[in-house]
Amino acid sequence: MMPVIFLSHGAPSLPLEAGETGEAWRQLGAQLPRPTAILVISAHWESHIPTLSRTVQPETIHDFSGFPEALYRLQYPAPGAPQMAQAAAQLLRQANIPVQLDDKHGLDHGAWVPLSIMFPQADIPVAQLSLQPEKTPAWHLALGRALRPLREQGVLIVGSGSITHNLRAIFKNPPGKQAPVWVTDFCDWVAERISEGDVDALCAYRTLAPYAEVNHPSEEHFLPLFVALGAATQVEGAQHLNRVMTFGMLAMDAWLFDPQG
Ligand code: ZN
Repeated sequence: MMPVIFLSHGAPSLPLEAGETGEAWRQLGAQLPRPTAILVISAHWESHIPTLSRTVQPETIHDFSGFPEALYRLQYPAPGAPQMAQAAAQLLRQANIPVQLDDKHGLDHGAWVPLSIMFPQADIPVAQLSLQPEKTPAWHLALGRALRPLREQGVLIVGSGSITHNLRAIFKNPPGKQAPVWVTDFCDWVAERISEGDVDALCAYRTLAPYAEVNHPSEEHFLPLFVALGAATQVEGAQHLNRVMTFGMLAMDAWLFDPQG
């Protein structure tokens, strides 16, 4: 079975200054068996009903502003994965989850930025599944559980969000300062719960985790983790990768679930 990934995708400009995170993603891509297709659940695509992109040739969406010109010229021309999207939709329906298909949606930066470094040849078909930020972590866990059989067909499921995501605090943070305790305590709590396989506690993170609401004023960057947790069979065996902090408080942690398949 194909392993499952959650990663923190960081700033859109990462391809221009890939650094330590880029190296970690490159290694991750190289260590995995070659996927038959990739399904990305990104923080940057939201809809009320779970939606799968069935686009044949998805465009590279530059869904950000104020970054260097060179970034807007980058393209990730991977083919779409309409058949896999169709199979994923079928699995969600079987789990009584409402679903719709979208024939036009491209790849947002939560998808193409990490994939352009993990699989630079852009030759593996990619589809996306949208998030429902008004729904609970348990809802997103159920999405992941329903999609688990795709792994048997070699599909790589990637949750792409961020372990911490308070952009307002990041913009106010003077460069070079150490990560504040409200960031590190939250990261440690999440890492401990994952290493214990305590998915129930993770689902209740908003009440149980220290400084949950400060790190996630809105939940969309944390929810992709739950889809990955749901798709995994043995959470406690996850490999914790890339414990890197950027901008003093944007944690770049990634997890590889079921690393042996
Ligand atoms: Zn983001």
